[in-house]
Amino acid sequence: MKAIVNGNIVLENGIIWDGVLLIDGNKIVSFGKSADVQIPENADIIDAEGTYVGPGFVDIHVHGGQTYQTYENPVEACRFFLQNGTTSILATPSYGRNFQEFLEAFRVIDDAMGKVKNLKGIYCEGPYTNPNYGACADRNPWRHPICEKEYKALVDAAGKNVKVWAIAPEREGLFPFLEYARKVNPDVIFALGHSEATPMQICALGKYKPKIQTHSMCATGRLPVFGGTRGYGPDEYCFREPDMFAEVISDSCGIHVHPTMLQLLIHTKGVHRVILITDSTVSQEASPQEYAHIDDLNFDHNGGLSGSKLTMNLACRNIMAHTNCGIAQAFIMASTNPAKALGMGDEIGSIEAGKIADLVFVNDRFDVKQVMLGGEICKF
Ligand SMILES: [Zn+2]
Repeated sequence: MKAIVNGNIVLENGIIWDGVLLIDGNKIVSFGKSADVQIPENADIIDAEGTYVGPGFVDIHVHGGQTYQTYENPVEACRFFLQNGTTSILATPSYGRNFQEFLEAFRVIDDAMGKVKNLKGIYCEGPYTNPNYGACADRNPWRHPICEKEYKALVDAAGKNVKVWAIAPEREGLFPFLEYARKVNPDVIFALGHSEATPMQICALGKYKPKIQTHSMCATGRLPVFGGTRGYGPDEYCFREPDMFAEVISDSCGIHVHPTMLQLLIHTKGVHRVILITDSTVSQEASPQEYAHIDDLNFDHNGGLSGSKLTMNLACRNIMAHTNCGIAQAFIMASTNPAKALGMGDEIGSIEAGKIADLVFVNDRFDVKQVMLGGEICKF
């Protein structure tokens, strides 16, 4: 048994000031105010030193961090993000990889599964997105028609590790791919991303309709409508769909998504349907001059945005700064919602009896002080 004492325990519906949390093995057993919880005599005491103890972050969309790609060096990349409080990760290869590189990425990730406990699978950003949207669009190797031999090889190689495929509904010949992806992994989720699809095109997906929007308000487009009126595309579709989750990148200066739009997103979707992602990447490209002072962005060779250098704790800090949301709400967006969207909400994503003890200890500006993974405090 372990007892975390002297912490503020962040629950889905509030905070227990000066709480105690009991853990047995890898599971949360109980929690409450320090005056109300009986600590077993033989329990190991962990002093939270007045920090907030929240559910470990779940980053479903992360390409890499430091010099490590999550799909080339997943063990090293996952360790880096673990230090920053991310206890569940989906490694995210994207449309920039060619066919052979995708196959190799799937092999490397499969090999790492189980070697590092916070690696939970794959979020495949593409290849069947709209090649006109996103970083390095001019180098997108997936402009040719969707080909059965290729998608079958990709889906087979990804197997059950893949949790999410991001797709653009306007891609011609998409249906056989969707059908095959669902057949090989019945639990797979589709995400709407790098797309200019109309709400009608998205609705036409029927039983394959997306549950998540890939980075809301980034790399999306709208078909032109009558001059001077507002177009409608993936962002507007997601705003309208009450059950759909919207991923969002919240960087320090609100460049990916302006604070006004972040506020609009939370207002429209509600705090229970927004998923913070880092979309963190590894990039050697220099920043354009006017953005050189911002240290959490990455750019492509054309000076376009190419993901971030965020870790999830910083994304939480930023969303609080830009929207005035509270710590418990930031945890809902960084941990609870992504776990629920993946269908893993019964195991991880919030502090409840019976759930896995994946926890992060932070101060009030989200500096990570300690991380617990599966009931063990991590040593770095
Ligand atoms: Zn993207």
